[in-house]
Amino acid sequence: SWGSLGDKNVYDWSSEEEEPDGRARPVQVLLVKDDHTFELDEAALSRILLAEEVRDREVVAVSVAGAFRKGKSFLMDFMLRYMYKLASGDWLGDSHEPLTGFSWRGGSERETTGIQIWSEVFLVDKPDGRKVAVLLMDTQGTFDSQSTLRDSATVFALSTMISSMQVYNISQNVQEDDLQHLQLFTEYGRLAMEETFLKPFQSLIFLVRDWSFPYEFPYGQEGGMKFLEKRLKISENQHEELQNVRKHIHSCFTNISCFLMPHPGLKVATNPHFDGRIAEIDGDFLNNLKVLVPWLLSPKNIDVKEINGSKITCRGLLEYFKAYIKIYQG
Ligand code: GDP
Ligand code: MG
Repeated sequence: SWGSLGDKNVYDWSSEEEEPDGRARPVQVLLVKDDHTFELDEAALSRILLAEEVRDREVVAVSVAGAFRKGKSFLMDFMLRYMYKLASGDWLGDSHEPLTGFSWRGGSERETTGIQIWSEVFLVDKPDGRKVAVLLMDTQGTFDSQSTLRDSATVFALSTMISSMQVYNISQNVQEDDLQHLQLFTEYGRLAMEETFLKPFQSLIFLVRDWSFPYEFPYGQEGGMKFLEKRLKISENQHEELQNVRKHIHSCFTNISCFLMPHPGLKVATNPHFDGRIAEIDGDFLNNLKVLVPWLLSPKNIDVKEINGSKITCRGLLEYFKAYIKIYQG
């Protein structure tokens, strides 16, 4: 059913619910329960990844992860808009159209921890003629206490292991504890994987929201890279711990990049009746969104998932998903 939160319409499905009309929707494939055990909805995941059109296609798995209430699902919904309008230049949509897809919302109450994937896998033609399947993953983590930090670490680790592009969504700046969290999460993931000479993970994109120093490092990807280089730089006179975090991050990912996003404006951040219409989003944010989303998702930029150097299909990804979750179920 269509859930309604305040004045905004959001999808609010639970995984047991059937799609009444075949409409695409977010599906909760991994759920962390109150007793900190993990539940994988294997049937739902199989329905999506083993659909005839996609199962033998190489898969691009895009994930957005990070602490809650930082605009991950909000961004995901723009990524969906882009994927649905890939062929046309104007994907941002009408200025008064409410934003739907993954459920995003204001407020500060806790939500579930886990992974949702969009039920529709997109088939995209790469410029080299290959047709690949694109899977969008939204994660939810709370990071608010020791016990949930462990849950969030597992969700983050799993989503990093499963994805070919992990967007690490952080607020305002790249703080030392953002890097420490990242180290913890990827260490969790790396321990669970086979030892290999290759870097275990693929692309990591630091996405800094509400960046407020554009005069030092401009918004976007170039400013982001310069900023990140500075933050991840290893130097002799740094404390050993700081050096180790940086070495670890460099050793885990094949590609590391960064994008600095401006604040979306007060309506987005504070108005409980805001429904996602772009008419009420700051122009600066929209202009950068128009750069960010194609930079992440345009056919030439998306990377196929590789494990130990071989490209993975949707069918293969399902097998890895099941194997990885077993490790954490102990
Ligand atoms: P998630 O928990 O990370 O998925 O966050 P949501 O996407 O549900 O968004 C949480 C709240 O943040 C909503 O009220 C959004 O309107 C708001 N929001 C979305 N993007 C941004 C952003 O870039 N900056 C700020 N400050 N708020 C945002
Ligand atoms: Mg969310």
